[in-house]
Amino acid sequence: MQNDSDEVFSIENIEFECPICNRSKIKAFIREYSAPYFGKLLIYSLICPSCGYKNVDVSSLESKPPTRFILKISEPEDLYSRVIRSSSSVIKIPELGLMIESGAIAQSFITNVEGILQRFKDAIEGLQVWTEEKEKAKVALETIEKAIRCETPFTLIIEDPQGVSAIIAENKEKLIIEEYDPYKS
Ligand SMILES: [Zn+2]
Repeated sequence: MQNDSDEVFSIENIEFECPICNRSKIKAFIREYSAPYFGKLLIYSLICPSCGYKNVDVSSLESKPPTRFILKISEPEDLYSRVIRSSSSVIKIPELGLMIESGAIAQSFITNVEGILQRFKDAIEGLQVWTEEKEKAKVALETIEKAIRCETPFTLIIEDPQGVSAIIAENKEKLIIEEYDPYKS
């Protein structure tokens, strides 16, 4: 049986001085992945153990059209589908009213569907909410927790104008990959 994603090339444990704090050696890795449809992806990760500086990004070695990924999540195994998210992409879960915008402060990450739900949960828990908003935040958290327990089906949509992001589905029949026009909403 062949893997969905083959690691072609990997440089581990590169060490250099942290550009932020200069106190510590940064651990870095660069990996090249080759996956069907996605082609070659270059993923790098830098983490400073001293000040917490972190930079993860993914780029494509090939030019790609704007791509939309639509994954239906209805069984626990779907939550383990892998997600490679570039900072240029938008993430939406319409049924839960959740969205992560693209932009300069948007982070790239490599996680799975459960990890994305966890990020939304952390973001809501980190908000300073006014009293009247507390009830709303509580409802939102309960909805996300239900989704993490897979009690409610939902759809994960990633739109990437550079086509770099990827979803590697546990169940391929539940994933739709299509080109889209980023200038039309
Ligand atoms: Zn540092």
